[in-house]
Amino acid sequence: MTRYSRADWRADRPTGSHALVPSQVVGVALHWPAMGKKRLVTRDEIAQALRGWQDFHQGKGWSDIGYQVAVDQNGNRWDLRGLRARSGANGTNALNRRYVAVLLILGEGEQPTEQMLREVRTLLGDIRDLYPGAVSVVGHGDIRPGGTACPGPVVGKLIDAGAFYPTASTAYVRQTGPKVRAAFERLYATEQQRNAAPTGMKRLRLGLWLRIVQWRSELTVAQLRALRADFSADLAYAIRRGMKKTTLALEARVRYIDRLLTKKG
Ligand SMILES: [Zn+2]
Repeated sequence: MTRYSRADWRADRPTGSHALVPSQVVGVALHWPAMGKKRLVTRDEIAQALRGWQDFHQGKGWSDIGYQVAVDQNGNRWDLRGLRARSGANGTNALNRRYVAVLLILGEGEQPTEQMLREVRTLLGDIRDLYPGAVSVVGHGDIRPGGTACPGPVVGKLIDAGAFYPTASTAYVRQTGPKVRAAFERLYATEQQRNAAPTGMKRLRLGLWLRIVQWRSELTVAQLRALRADFSADLAYAIRRGMKKTTLALEARVRYIDRLLTKKG
């Protein structure tokens, strides 16, 4: 798995750029290049295609290729606008502020490889590190006003099945023992359950929380901060949706983490 830079696909310079505002980011939108049944396999083919899409997008008056990052079928990651910049791909400025745009280099009907799935999950974990509120994973067509076929039915089904849900990122699991690492993996799995079944999620989440309480002495400051960010994002959601009981429970968890942080710090 290789991380390719803009230089690796010989990108033209962007004509402008806006930074993403972390507090505004709520999720990740998956895209495909809409290239019909074509398959792109080699590094050269992909680099050339990226240059073509950049030309096409800049030809429409955009500052750069529309997406922030691409993942190919070999599990390689390509830096496009980069994760700090706002995308131009989601359909409206409001959506570009709220969703990171990830391009999956897939043709029509093409099934993502295990390498692609794994790299997207890792990428989504990295995006979480930068944007703790980026909790939802959607297809472009799920959010674009008026809809779009992008990213195609194959990816759409995989999104519904939770196949792209982020794995705990390296920042989360660094310097951890197996127990705590498992707890974090579980936390992510639990959130995935939330997408599928709200009631089951609630029970699992409480179970996980109790274990984290039990293992509090093993949690590092970085992990506590990551947990705080996750619970704060959930709290903001609960407040927006007027979920009073959940709001109280999440407020208590954030306060508890703050106390642990004070003790450790
Ligand atoms: Zn799209």
